[in-house]
Amino acid sequence: KEALVGELRRRKEEIRQLAYIDPVTSLPNRRMLMDWLNHILAQAARHEHSTALLFLDLDKFKEVNDQFGHETGDKLLQEVGSRLIRCVRSGDTVSRLGGDEFVIALPEIARLEDVEATAEKIIRILSEPMPIAGHLLKVSASIGIATAWGRLPSPDEALRQADLALYRAKSDGRNRVAVFEPAMEIAITYRR
Ligand code: GH3
Ligand code: MG
Repeated sequence: KEALVGELRRRKEEIRQLAYIDPVTSLPNRRMLMDWLNHILAQAARHEHSTALLFLDLDKFKEVNDQFGHETGDKLLQEVGSRLIRCVRSGDTVSRLGGDEFVIALPEIARLEDVEATAEKIIRILSEPMPIAGHLLKVSASIGIATAWGRLPSPDEALRQADLALYRAKSDGRNRVAVFEPAMEIAITYRR
């Protein structure tokens, strides 16, 4: 009977992993991120502290796949994941949304400058060459930042704002950080 219970427990853990973990990087996936965000944003509203979301997308990642193959691309994504984890504090969460997109949630921030400094540090660390599959690969990344000061945006809204800021970082030339501001909504309306 005990063996059966143990087996059940293992199977349950396997299922949880399949549902919440990205198989390429072993990071939490989009579903787990959304669960977290619900929790983090509710906590932030309750305790009146501020939260930031960093939406990261690698620059010209498709070229890595085209030049070195998908498998090498996957290894690069794994290296990005481990570097991201090294950049953040305990309590911060790193996840992979899919493709070359990663989201870092900083549940408790003091000042916007601290968040920008973290984002800049991430960009710096990712731009250091990566020894992968016998090559020395160089990539860069763009990051969009959204912050919630006291008020409570929904997880979708927070992600959407960070994504808009990311779009700005890309269109301003990539390899940089942009912070969400409401004027970006207008810019996007004109674009359509
Ligand atoms: P940009 O600077 O505009 O972001 O250019 P990009 O080439 O990075 O383009 P984009 O972010 O739109 O596309 C991401 C590419 O990532 C598309 C696809 O070739 C690749 N990709 C998506 N998922 C995976 C994956 O699981 N593994 C690998 N190796 N590549 C992936
Ligand atoms: Mg990209």
